[in-house]
Amino acid sequence: MRRRILPGVCCQQNQILWFFHRRRSTVTKLKRFLGNSNTLEVHDTANEKSSCQLDEIKVEHRHWYDTIGQAKADKDYDNCAWCLGSSTR
Ligand SMILES: [Zn+2]
Repeated sequence: MRRRILPGVCCQQNQILWFFHRRRSTVTKLKRFLGNSNTLEVHDTANEKSSCQLDEIKVEHRHWYDTIGQAKADKDYDNCAWCLGSSTR
């Protein structure tokens, strides 16, 4: 009897958690890595955290890269402490 109700509730809660976990920002991801040319920080959007606040990056400051290497070759970016870690500053 209990089994018939509880799994459904669990599933629903997991879906809601999954939804909030995945939808950190409304930024359209063109490539995996997003550099902010204003703060000179680079983010890994595949590991985005709410603290990254990608929505706060102005469109003209957004620079997209396929790899972290491309980003660092283009500008002197620092790793975002939230999604990449090992900040070098
Ligand atoms: Zn980040």
